[in-house]
This record gives sequence, structure tokens and C-alpha cells, in this order.
Amino acid sequence: MTEVLFKVIIIGDPTVGKTSFVQRYVNDGFRRDYKMTIGVDFALKVIRWSDNHSIKLQLWDIAGQERFTSMTRVYYKDAHACIIMFDLTQRNTFRNAVNWKKDLDSKCTLSNGCPVPCLLLANKCDLPDKKVDQVEVEEMCKEHDFVGWTETSVKEGLMIEESMRFLAEEMMNNH
Ligand code: GDP
Ligand code: MG
Repeated sequence: MTEVLFKVIIIGDPTVGKTSFVQRYVNDGFRRDYKMTIGVDFALKVIRWSDNHSIKLQLWDIAGQERFTSMTRVYYKDAHACIIMFDLTQRNTFRNAVNWKKDLDSKCTLSNGCPVPCLLLANKCDLPDKKVDQVEVEEMCKEHDFVGWTETSVKEGLMIEESMRFLAEEMMNNH
């Protein structure tokens, strides 16, 4: 059995649901490993990929550091993939998703020089008063080179596993 370790960072504005996402995804094997003073939480999850491969995902949850400072460079370093999350009911968090993407791409690439694969998650799709429509998300996603996007509801547990599986596939392809 071979195991590969991937670092996945989760970024986006405050309150969009990043911490909830990580907690829900790892819930069974949840370990709040430690909390660094720069405000990062780590969680680990091992997934079975094939008969002889497993993937250890190290999820970095930015905590209380949700703005563009020099600190994000440290946080992004050596990431294999990224999730950028926004809240469908808060339009400013959608606009800012582009800024997060630019911040990431300006500070970090994969070791081969390619951009870090980035999945856009439109969270809180369980709520009725959406402020962003699908066509806009689709266009933004293409224009800014996200590898894909989907609506999620961390609250209802919708598209959580599928999103991470998709990212894992991207990372295995780059591996
Ligand atoms: P973070 O600041 O991005 O880490 O966001 P949190 O994970 O702390 O979530 C902020 C708030 O949004 C909390 O009250 C969550 O319960 C709520 N929340 C997170 N995901 C969802 C969702 O999918 N639907 C709804 N309705 N609320 C959510
Ligand atoms: Mg948080």
C-alpha cells in the first residue's frame, strides 16, 4: 500500500462555511491537531484511492486570518490544491472569491510551475435568498481558470465528498 500526502488549503471570506466544511468532511476521523498562533487549523483525512493507493489529505483551514496579508504566502506554500468558498447569499463573498484566486496565483504555484488547481464552492445552497446566479458563477469560473465549481450545502451535507473526490482526482493527475 502506498500513501501520498496532499496539502489542500481552504480559503474565502469569513463566515462562508470553511470551518464547517472541514469539520463535516473529516467528522469520523476528526482531529483538531493543533492550532498555530498564525491562526491555522489542520485536519487530516485518509481516503482509499485504489487497491494499493491511499491518499492522506491535510486540510488547512485559515482561521481568523481571512484577509490578504503577507501571511497568506506562508499558508499557501506547497499546497497541492485549493478550495475557494463563497456564500451564495452574500454577494460580496462571491466578488472576493476572485481576489482570493488572484492572491493565491500571485504567491504560489505547483512545483512544476502550473497554477494550483482550485475548486470554487458556492456554499449555503440550502438557503432561499440567493444573491448570485449559476450563469454568473459559470462565467467567473471560466474566466479565472478554476478547475470547476459546484453548489454545496455544508449544513445539509450536499456535495462535500464529491467535491473532495474531484480535487483528489486533479491532484493524482498532477502527481
Ligand atoms: P468560516 O468563517 O468560513 O469558517 O465559516 P463557519 O464554518 O464558521 O460558518 C459560519 C456560519 O455559517 C456558521 O453559523 C455555520 O453554521 C453556517 N453555515 C456553514 N455552512 C452552511 C450551509 O451550508 N448552510 C447554512 N444555512 N449555514 C451554513
Ligand atoms: Mg473558520
